[in-house]
Amino acid sequence: MNTTAVADTIAYVDEQSFQEYLHSIRRFVHESLIPREAQLEEANALPAGVMDEMRDLGIFGMSIAPEYGGLGLTMLQEVRMHAVLSEAAQGFRYAYGTNVGIGSRALTLDGTQAQRDLWLPRIATGEIMTAFCATEPDAGSDLNSIKTRAVKDGDDYIVSGTKRFITNADTADLFTVLVRTGDSDGPEAISALLIERELAGIEVGKPEKKLGQHGGSICDVMFDQVRVPARNLIGGTEGKGLLIAKRTLSAGRLSVAANSLGQMRRAIDVAALYASERQQFGKAISQFQLVQALLADSETDWFASHSAVLEAARQYDSGTGAARSAACAKYFASEALGRVADRCLQVLGGAGYIADYPLERIFRDARVSRIYEGTSQIMQLVIARDLLRQYRNK
Ligand SMILES: Cc1cc2nc3c(=O)[nH]c(=O)nc-3n(C[C@H](O)[C@H](O)[C@H](O)COP(=O)(O)OP(=O)(O)OC[C@H]3O[C@@H](n4cnc5c(N)ncnc54)[C@H](O)[C@@H]3O)c2cc1C
Repeated sequence: MNTTAVADTIAYVDEQSFQEYLHSIRRFVHESLIPREAQLEEANALPAGVMDEMRDLGIFGMSIAPEYGGLGLTMLQEVRMHAVLSEAAQGFRYAYGTNVGIGSRALTLDGTQAQRDLWLPRIATGEIMTAFCATEPDAGSDLNSIKTRAVKDGDDYIVSGTKRFITNADTADLFTVLVRTGDSDGPEAISALLIERELAGIEVGKPEKKLGQHGGSICDVMFDQVRVPARNLIGGTEGKGLLIAKRTLSAGRLSVAANSLGQMRRAIDVAALYASERQQFGKAISQFQLVQALLADSETDWFASHSAVLEAARQYDSGTGAARSAACAKYFASEALGRVADRCLQVLGGAGYIADYPLERIFRDARVSRIYEGTSQIMQLVIARDLLRQYRNK
């Protein structure tokens, strides 16, 4: 691939090279992942070889700069990658999605030079897996209320607490963990620490049984008096944890929005093809205008979401209005995905409800997009707060 290093979020990969790369990703999705969806679903585990194929394609480096061995894609390129990859079952996404997203984003955006040098090259190749630990049993939407503590002891922190619903906790080598480093209950006492899985005192719970996204796992992570070197404090300054989490989640929300695009595209393709082939009352059901309405409304939802995600990614790359536009894109696209999955399942009638057809899985996989990385209600609050800020002093 022809890569030219420019600056920050300016393209390292030119558009033509990127399109060729995206074409190879699309081929991988349709020739390698989609044919193994049933296997993924049945075994509730990633089929052998998938990780290596993803490593060979450089997928683990999509959000990491070339100086650390990554592809250095812009956010606009990243969301297009996510949209294509998410045409396959969401369980496959657990292999790379957290690693290139919330698992490594705090490091890429806010890590010190030494932290980046130490970890990013191995994350970019997929050699080590990462996870992001914010949620706790009593702190989900309200991350201000986390209780996991990190108490300074010489050159170390002693970390104790429990994290909940952590994607890939059972396979991760490195956790980004939101902790409370100060005595106050306020956000100024929250910091972000890098914690290696191999340290003594860490226990990972058994994977939760989930509605969908089979093949990917979420688990509790328990930290019991874990001794963590103070040099692992992300950015090197205490009290920045909530800001780091917000920046990480802003980027993460664009990925969730882009994943919604891929799932919608697949659902519409399956439904449109089925409607063209299925005959009732002596003709293809695609000729009935009520069926056409289900498809037209779905295509419109995809188009509006697609436009929103690309525009939000452009704004992210230009550094303007990223938090609000990422929240708008995530809110709209994930809600649209719910509508599209429901309508497309309806197009298949009874066949939509059984597992031999992909809609049954897409319908289940889709639901959590409105919950993780900020629920729809939290997106509404983020958008409204940011919008109203500019009217406050008028
Ligand atoms: C599959 C999956 C993967 C996940 N992966 C990770 C991960 O890797 N790392 C991680 O840290 N977390 C992860 N999570 C956790 C996820 O981010 C949280 O579930 C989510 O943020 C919501 O928190 P909660 O479940 O505690 O719900 P709560 O915060 O208890 O919310 C419950 C309900 O109340 C509503 N609500 C809460 N506050 C308000 C308010 N102020 N106004 C209006 N409504 C409100 C919510 O919208 C929701 O409908 C994952 C969850 C799932 C299901």
